[in-house]
Amino acid sequence: MNNPSGVLLEAQGGEEQVAEFLSGIEPLAPPLAVISAVSSEQIPLVEEGGFIVRESGGGGGEVQISPDCDVCPDCLGELFDPADRRYRYPFINCTNCGPRYTIIKGVPYDRAATTMAGFTMCEECLAEYGDPGNRRFHAQPNACPVCGPRLTLLDPKGKSLEGDPLDTAISMLQRGRILALKGVGGYHLAVDACNDDAVRELRRRKNRDEKPFALISPGLAEIMEYARFDETEQRLLSGAERPIVLLRKRERNPIVSLVAPANGYFGVMLPCTPLHHLLLRDNFLALVMTSGNLSDEPVSFLDDEALQRLAGIADLFLTHNRDIHTRTDDSVIRVFQGKPIFLRRSRGYVPRGITLPSVQRSVLAVGGELKGTVCLTRGNLAFLSQHIGDLRNAATLRSMEETIVQLGRILRIDPKVVAHDLHPDYLSTVHALSLPGLTKVAVQHHHAHLASCMAENGLEGETIGVIFDGTGYGPDGTVWGGEFLVGGYGSYRRAGHLRPIPLPGGDAAVRAPFRMALSWLYMIYGELLFALPLPPVSELPASERKLFMRMLERRLNSPLTSSCGRLFDAVASIIGLRQKVSYEGQAAIELEALAESTVNADVYPFGITLDGGVQILDFCEMVQAIVQDVVTARPEGEIARSFHNTMAEAVVETCRKIRTESGIDRVVLSGGVFQNKLLTEGVFTLLVKSGFYPFTQRLVPPNDGGVALGQAIIAGRSVLCV
Ligand code: ZN
Ligand code: ZN
Ligand code: FE
Repeated sequence: MNNPSGVLLEAQGGEEQVAEFLSGIEPLAPPLAVISAVSSEQIPLVEEGGFIVRESGGGGGEVQISPDCDVCPDCLGELFDPADRRYRYPFINCTNCGPRYTIIKGVPYDRAATTMAGFTMCEECLAEYGDPGNRRFHAQPNACPVCGPRLTLLDPKGKSLEGDPLDTAISMLQRGRILALKGVGGYHLAVDACNDDAVRELRRRKNRDEKPFALISPGLAEIMEYARFDETEQRLLSGAERPIVLLRKRERNPIVSLVAPANGYFGVMLPCTPLHHLLLRDNFLALVMTSGNLSDEPVSFLDDEALQRLAGIADLFLTHNRDIHTRTDDSVIRVFQGKPIFLRRSRGYVPRGITLPSVQRSVLAVGGELKGTVCLTRGNLAFLSQHIGDLRNAATLRSMEETIVQLGRILRIDPKVVAHDLHPDYLSTVHALSLPGLTKVAVQHHHAHLASCMAENGLEGETIGVIFDGTGYGPDGTVWGGEFLVGGYGSYRRAGHLRPIPLPGGDAAVRAPFRMALSWLYMIYGELLFALPLPPVSELPASERKLFMRMLERRLNSPLTSSCGRLFDAVASIIGLRQKVSYEGQAAIELEALAESTVNADVYPFGITLDGGVQILDFCEMVQAIVQDVVTARPEGEIARSFHNTMAEAVVETCRKIRTESGIDRVVLSGGVFQNKLLTEGVFTLLVKSGFYPFTQRLVPPNDGGVALGQAIIAGRSVLCV
């Protein structure tokens, strides 16, 4: 019997038989079963025979809900077997596979509490469902072509089209049309990835200038034609979670270059639903598979809403009548030294629990602003939500509110404490403060990053946290983002940071790296900067120079920042790679790709000075040397590589100084900048060589998608709310 505390089994027989039954539970469990613990007790004997499965009942609320999962090998065999009654049936599933989290409305996990409730099983399906020897025994979403959900193909006006929906969709895709496709956690937009016009048209209609599109291919053999992967990447691609994995491009490949311009990688996934398998197999080398939204908005997951919002983008809609209850984006991963780095942790992983170092009180944490996620804890488990998105958007905020309610309901968690960012203007903060009756705990952004990395690595005590990201609210009124913190869950101190410089125009500088470059150059060269033959200089019209300088001098709308992300922007601008970006982090991603194109071990000069017990890391000399290199036309790839070397060297040198003064030799690396594999590799290797014990984030993203986990453990242990 399923109850909210887990599964309750009653067995009777001889002592040996019962012992054998008990010891077989873990090794013989079905592939999707996550067994966190098995406990047993003797109960009074009742004369009973046979095998009975009882209706689900109430209970304590300790159970975990499964994530969604790709079709299993058995179901895949049936899907392509003309003799099987589910031949080419896109909703095939069994206890080992299929949708879970996205269709569940409540607990216990029974068909009645899912979006399958409206479909009554036919006799054949019911027989499978009731047969303990069958693979579909108690498979809640069980269905077949007779009784289950069906596909329809619609035009943008919502009119259903004649003919077989799947066949028509395939042939339209082959002719270069744009298809909106209902997936597990939301709508995708798909086009043939080898058709130049189709990809260009999708970019135009989606209003997305440069952000890379993800790809989906029917199998590993097809992926091999355009990208390279190692053993770890192959394992991640083929796993039941089916994330998008970033794979290095092959030099000459048949994919349209507009799919991922100026990027060394493709984001690639294998089919994650039976429908994808049917669409792709034998038909396409790869399809673009990008989320069904306009840039920056949340992904569509309700049918009417999708039709409305995507009508101007898609030529046709391949949809069906099994509702998605919870919107869930694709997960995105890259591999670093045989371990995953999550760029986004979502479908396939949510709501799997992350084990905390110890039991703590239940809390809710609402995360940051960009790449929003929320986190709920129960006992020693933390449940990080799916990716919610950019919380500067009202639609995303609603989605966050819904996620908090839904996660709380299915996990049966009713927290009394809410953790939020220190930034008073984040919509997540505003929402947290509006929750009645909950104790509020404000957590500094980079402290949360540090705690997040410590928590998932099971660390206690104090560590050095190297936290490099875009921006975060500093308690001293400046914008932090290149931090060396020393501390643990209870407290931290700022032991070092990048030398702060003005961020001209505040948020405007994030979209325009040349502004940050000019800020650096002005600090070093003063007015003479305008005589330098550098790309960022020509970006600013001569008529605006005076105003710009006045802005920097008087700090008009130019807060000081120690952000490391902004330093990457400045360097990308100075070497002429990128003056403006269409998404945050774009310049850094391209700078990394450029650096990877060559190898050298050069390190630029930099300075570390002690100011009131705090290590100040100063890159003025490095920027000067880079300017020299640009003026003397050193190849950009070489400069980019030396810049990465310098950053790694400077980080480790600063850590050495902090170790000398504190005696701490464990270092956690977190923050969005550590999505950069080249930098992470450099820092990690040098730290090990220098006798440190470095830790990276492997279970949750190093970017702001992982901040809620850190907030949750800090609040859970906070003395404020005992
Ligand atoms: Zn299956
Ligand atoms: Zn049926
Ligand atoms: Fe951050």
